[in-house]
Amino acid sequence: MANEQLDEFRREVRAWLEENCPKGARGPGPVAMPGRRNRVDDKDTILWKERMAEKGWTVPHWPKEYGGGGLSRAEVSVLQQEMNRIDARMPLMGGMGVSMIGPTLLEFGTEDQKKRHLPPIVRGEINWCQGYSEPGAGSDLASLRTRAEEKGDHFVINGQKIWTSGAQFADWMFALVRTNFDVPKHEGISFVLLDMDQEGVSVRPIKLISGASPFCETFFDNAIAKKEDLVGELNKGWTVGKRLLQHERSGQGGLGGGGRRQEAGPGSLDTVAKKYIGEADGRIADPQWRDRVLTMNMNQKAFSLTTRRAMEENRDGRTPGEATSIFKLYGSTLTRDRAAMTVEMMGFQGVGWEGDSFSEAELNATRSWLSSRAVTIYGGTNEVQKNIIAKRVLGLPD
Ligand SMILES: Cc1cc2nc3c(=O)[nH]c(=O)nc-3n(C[C@H](O)[C@H](O)[C@H](O)COP(=O)(O)OP(=O)(O)OC[C@H]3O[C@@H](n4cnc5c(N)ncnc54)[C@H](O)[C@@H]3O)c2cc1C
Repeated sequence: MANEQLDEFRREVRAWLEENCPKGARGPGPVAMPGRRNRVDDKDTILWKERMAEKGWTVPHWPKEYGGGGLSRAEVSVLQQEMNRIDARMPLMGGMGVSMIGPTLLEFGTEDQKKRHLPPIVRGEINWCQGYSEPGAGSDLASLRTRAEEKGDHFVINGQKIWTSGAQFADWMFALVRTNFDVPKHEGISFVLLDMDQEGVSVRPIKLISGASPFCETFFDNAIAKKEDLVGELNKGWTVGKRLLQHERSGQGGLGGGGRRQEAGPGSLDTVAKKYIGEADGRIADPQWRDRVLTMNMNQKAFSLTTRRAMEENRDGRTPGEATSIFKLYGSTLTRDRAAMTVEMMGFQGVGWEGDSFSEAELNATRSWLSSRAVTIYGGTNEVQKNIIAKRVLGLPD
């Protein structure tokens, strides 16, 4: 797009935002969550989501015919810059609808599936969850045994999923199910969409040691998925499922454009080091820590630049294929190591769980450190990413 057109677009966006972004949707505050069960009460937050959704700007890069904004990559960046300029909050937390099933449907869905499922994601009406893992199928996902039998215009599903993030708040699930037990395992899998609000689906939240429950066991007892919600061909779901994982890993690896780290500011490694290790002449007092913090920040910066370059080179806007695993592996490792370094610098103050001896920032740092392990597991563990890189990117023998 020519520079003048982009300048004109910026002027329009600026004027529109000024008029339509309520004061209460600027600066820190709540963000609208997708789904029927995820209501946020704040009036301005809701109004902001509704106005942005009407323009398709909650998912600005999706085509207009499916509810999106139809914006080019350059226009999306202008919109983001203009929102940052007035400190506008995100209008809607994307979730798995925006980052996983949406792009997968754009690629593999029928026209009818795109028309039925994409606009409700843009409007934040439906919250999705992912039914992949089972008690006997995690890294070896293709061993999944949840059975789907064809019956007239639908499938009848029986079996169990596990680690289903947010299933207790989800309206719909995308799931991998077995539709043929008599062929090699990858060839008998289908990819279906099903309504969570039905008798045959029950969820049991899994309580963590912290008391929170980010995920669930999900049980199917004659649950129904309509045939019109089979994505891709029958028994060819592995191809669709793998592509969705690339979208998932792409977001986790920073290719979605989020997840940038601060090198300065209140939560930065530099600030934490100066506070807990000590400061001398405006620098971190201890030379070894200075070196470690600098190395981590340089790695982070190099990674951010590499993800940016990969996104810019990838002109058709699609996530890279198998190479996405490189970004997922490196990004998750950085996140884990950075969180570990933060609590290490805090010393005793970095291992608090509760009580007045710890500030809120310190308690958050401990929790972030513990939860950072999960990034190296979900979406496929680091070992699994290394296997993919070895086999599918480098072409090494099995
Ligand atoms: C926070 C969180 C959220 C999640 N959300 C979801 C969700 O919403 N939906 C969903 O379907 N799943 C979800 N998962 C599940 C996640 O995808 C699995 O935990 C992951 O794929 C690993 O499977 P597993 O737990 O069965 O471990 P296993 O597969 O049993 O692996 C155990 C260990 O063995 C290693 N290993 C296994 N196979 C190999 C191999 N071939 N080579 C080398 N090492 C190997 C693994 O790396 C790991 O260290 C979530 C997990 C977490 C932690």
